[in-house]
Amino acid sequence: MSHMRPGPLPSLADGEYGFDSFLESVRSCRHCQGLIPEPRPILRAHPEASLLIVGQAPGRTVHRTGIPWNDQSGKTLREWMGIDRAHFYDPTRVAILPAGFCYPGHSAHGDLPPRPECARLWRMPLLERLPAIRLTLLLGRHAQALYLPETRLLSLADTVRQATRWLPSLFPLPHPSPRNRLWFRRHPWFEAEILPILRDLLRGFWKEAPRGRLGLRARIPSAFPRPGVAPS
Ligand code: SF4
Repeated sequence: MSHMRPGPLPSLADGEYGFDSFLESVRSCRHCQGLIPEPRPILRAHPEASLLIVGQAPGRTVHRTGIPWNDQSGKTLREWMGIDRAHFYDPTRVAILPAGFCYPGHSAHGDLPPRPECARLWRMPLLERLPAIRLTLLLGRHAQALYLPETRLLSLADTVRQATRWLPSLFPLPHPSPRNRLWFRRHPWFEAEILPILRDLLRGFWKEAPRGRLGLRARIPSAFPRPGVAPS
């Protein structure tokens, strides 16, 4: 099995060219060849993006089309956020980095969890190159485990119920997958109380963070390896 490790990363001082070539090296990653159906990293990022969306991993539709959140989950997420596709897919506003960048395959119980290699190889170097991120939406348990390890022992409901606790930088949410319909029915306070907070927050956020203006640095979890650290 061949494991492609990242080569020398373009320098942070290389500006736009450095960012584009760095993104290209992430998209060329084949580290999990043989462990997943087909490595195809799907992510969006731009140094000016101010909002970061962290989901779990691409599903089959997203893997096929190469467009993140290009499915029913994405439609629901855009409704939650109160923005249209043009705004959502503008990389100078919104960066999209799932917990795992490639479709991980599936079992009888549904899609497999995101591969852990992405976080070790790529997340920290990516976040280092996204200095304008001011708010990160954490969709589902896998995203929350990466950024909020203190919530690992809490239920999803207990984490989401106190979503404002991690503002102004992080906001945990359930994953908007249609598979979670039962969860939404069992927790009506989410739609009645948490979604209005999210929409208000984002309305103010876009006014304060017009496209292209660098803001405060996002919280980068100390658990992420530093750039250049090889995966174990
Ligand atoms: S899952 Fe992550 S580490 Fe594995 S091949 Fe895809 S981008 Fe690379």
